[in-house]
Amino acid sequence: MTLGTDWAIAWVRRSAAVVAEHRVELITLDREIGDGDHGENLDRGFTAVIAKLDGLPEGSTPADVFKLVATTLISTVGGASGPLVGTAYLKAAGAVNGKADLDSAALVELLTAARDGVVLRGKAAVGDKTMIDAWTPAVAAASAAAEAGADEKAVLEAAADAASEGAAATEPLVAHKGRASYLGERAIGHRDPGAQSSALILRAAAEAAA
Ligand code: ADP
Ligand code: MG
Ligand code: MG
Repeated sequence: MTLGTDWAIAWVRRSAAVVAEHRVELITLDREIGDGDHGENLDRGFTAVIAKLDGLPEGSTPADVFKLVATTLISTVGGASGPLVGTAYLKAAGAVNGKADLDSAALVELLTAARDGVVLRGKAAVGDKTMIDAWTPAVAAASAAAEAGADEKAVLEAAADAASEGAAATEPLVAHKGRASYLGERAIGHRDPGAQSSALILRAAAEAAA
């Protein structure tokens, strides 16, 4: 069972729903080690995406869906996360360009390109207490699952599980990128909001495959 445009759209809709549902939680995390707008930023962005989804023409590919998400997030989300998450979707679109249906290997390529896009844009490494701490273990787990023969849904579930663990693992870290890096040791004990939202978005990808 490969995943196509219906899945891509379902992923985006589910992402918008979970971001809205967890808006206050993400704001609270960002209030602790940032400026308190992360939930607001992403909610504004995904709400704008949803408003544009119905305008996608018949025959759109998953890449077309991700391009729409990318351009909308980049243009509507202020703050660091807009360009970062927008670039993730832009690179994801590039990785699956022209494909109508995505198998496990294509999903790994999509996730890898998305993560690489965030790194290209933000230059964060694993352990810097950013969304990369969710994305990188997610890519590794998805890749291992695909190599072991997992189907598409199982690949996405492996990514989501690893992203959740990666987000939780940001709690004891000092930040080296983003606003939280200004706090030094005061960031210790707080989960990175971008890692948390990334884990939610990757969970949405797995749920959309159900
Ligand atoms: P801002 O910090 O501009 O208010 P947001 O609050 O929306 O933007 O997003 C903050 C999140 O962005 C952080 O929790 C972190 O995960 C992520 N982030 C910030 N800088 C970087 C970076 N250079 N690379 C990767 N992620 C980053
Ligand atoms: Mg913020
Ligand atoms: Mg801000």
